[in-house]
Amino acid sequence: MEKRIAVLRGDGIGPEVVNEAVKVLDRVAQRFGHTFTYVNITGGVAGIEAYGDALRRQDYEAAAACDSILFGSVGDPRKYTMTGANGTKKYKSRKESDVKALASFRRGMELYANVRPARVFPQLTAAAPLKDALAREMDLIVLRENTAGIFYANKYRKEVDGELTACDECVYTWSQVERHARFAFQLAMGRKKLVTMVNKPNAMETGVLWQTVYEKVAQDFPEVRYETMLVDGCAARLVSCPGRFDVIAAENMFGDILSDLANSAAGSLGLAGSGDVGGQGKGLYQCAGGSAPDIAGKGIANPIAEILSAALMLRLSFDMPEEASAIERAVEQALDDGCRTADIMTPGGRKLSCREMGDAIVQAI
Ligand code: NAD
Repeated sequence: MEKRIAVLRGDGIGPEVVNEAVKVLDRVAQRFGHTFTYVNITGGVAGIEAYGDALRRQDYEAAAACDSILFGSVGDPRKYTMTGANGTKKYKSRKESDVKALASFRRGMELYANVRPARVFPQLTAAAPLKDALAREMDLIVLRENTAGIFYANKYRKEVDGELTACDECVYTWSQVERHARFAFQLAMGRKKLVTMVNKPNAMETGVLWQTVYEKVAQDFPEVRYETMLVDGCAARLVSCPGRFDVIAAENMFGDILSDLANSAAGSLGLAGSGDVGGQGKGLYQCAGGSAPDIAGKGIANPIAEILSAALMLRLSFDMPEEASAIERAVEQALDDGCRTADIMTPGGRKLSCREMGDAIVQAI
């Protein structure tokens, strides 16, 4: 099969981990007889520095025309910040904002489903903050809605009656929730067949809408168990009994928070892959963590999250389940062999650089 993949390396550790994921994809192409062609684009703070724009229109279009996007996290709080605090630079315009690169793809390509798996590798239970027995049970996906909600609706910060006042509206339509619900149930069909829809209907009208739509869609999937849970209760249970979950479906903000909680409880953000997928099958794949400026340029970042994101690309967008499994097995093999980066170091492990970990995974494919 031939596939064109847009590659945006991003900022901080982005280029380091994306390079390792490309190496792994090349090895998969070689072993399974595929051709992957890469279209390199520049975005994020790198884009602002090169072109004064976090994502130029022509780069957006070039990437959107590819079969999928491999994305390195964007942002560098040392150079640009949302707040402008402590003398750091404040965005002058949306064009200058590094988050624009990601948001443009999510909204423009309608990548409404953010798939974030969280599981603890048995080799790494000692590195997970959860107790061993709890850690072993965790194997879930947080399915975050990606294109609407509080991130995208009307916002203001202004003087009202002499007092600085701020507002963020949260808006969802029936169809936005319904397509998310269908994705959630279909995902659960291929797993443990449980959907937990998380929200806060006692405080939010959007929560009532989510509940109404999800209940209706659930009727089309009688094989899947369906439950609802308040978001605060879900956060507590993710730590006390993570093994009870399968697919956790959540609106944008709740999903953002719960997925980081789940991934951190599972171990390092450096292990957490993710995919933004939409109706057309194309997707944007990236590690769930950020650009990690604290370790950027040191060669010690963990590439596993980006490599597992590339595996998700093969599984969800390219219909290559065997190839995706080959990558996932190679990651397990490397971990079995004692390969570790600094963030997942366990007693007796071999501490490797980002590049060495990539090489070990390539070798195991
Ligand atoms: P972060 O995820 O970059 O870092 C949090 C901690 O996790 C750090 O200690 C970091 O070293 C560690 N970490 C993350 N990925 C790792 C890896 N692969 N290997 C080893 N350790 C890893 O979060 P932050 O510091 O809050 O954000 C830094 C920047 O990233 C900000 O500019 C933020 O806006 C941006 N960000 C971008 C995205 C994205 O592009 N999707 C997502 C989140 C944050």
